[in-house]
Amino acid sequence: MTDTIFPPRPTPTIPVRGGADFPVARIFCVGRNYADHAAEMGHEVDREAPFYFTKSAHAVLLSGRDMPYPPRTADLHHEMELVVAIGKMAKDIAEADAMDVVYGYGCGLDMTRRDLQAAAKEKRRPWDTGKDFDNAAIIAPLTPKTDNADIGHLTLELEVNGKVRQQAKLSDMVWSIPEIIADLSTLYTLHPGDLIMTGTPAGVGAVVKGDVLRGTIGDFAPLETTII
Ligand code: MG
Repeated sequence: MTDTIFPPRPTPTIPVRGGADFPVARIFCVGRNYADHAAEMGHEVDREAPFYFTKSAHAVLLSGRDMPYPPRTADLHHEMELVVAIGKMAKDIAEADAMDVVYGYGCGLDMTRRDLQAAAKEKRRPWDTGKDFDNAAIIAPLTPKTDNADIGHLTLELEVNGKVRQQAKLSDMVWSIPEIIADLSTLYTLHPGDLIMTGTPAGVGAVVKGDVLRGTIGDFAPLETTII
């Protein structure tokens, strides 16, 4: 093996219920995938095409750990989302075949420096500093998929300090899981280890130090973190 000038940074991994860890490659996030959240942000949902942004795999914070309040923001928001974990390569995959590349599911928080995102939007600049920063992708242990059945009946919920802030049925997503995977695979070659954060329903809001966040989707492993 060729020497490297320093040891490569270890690949972030996420625990899997009843199995070995899942190594994370890339994190794709879907924008405005619930009509009620698009409305609260002052947008109409555009059914013509979903849009995406990304977070580094190194932005992962495992559920159960505390999230230090990040720098350069005074408006840190929670966005509770379904995470879809990709287990096979996919390029230009048909919607009908898209569920075959899903490894499993999990609860995720797309943490957002809303003030930086808003400033970027205003200036038509990239969202990266608002979305992709240390600990900005909080992920709970993954649950392997047992079949290709639709999971739209499951309820997503986020409580902050015991009060429900976000609640929706996964079937409220504008773009379904197979639609997202099929579309994303026309833009990128998807690889095992990629995660897709599938968008957030209404109810997003600010969190402050001391807040305890608890997210659930059906009986997937729940997500918990405290802002410190
Ligand atoms: Mg989001």
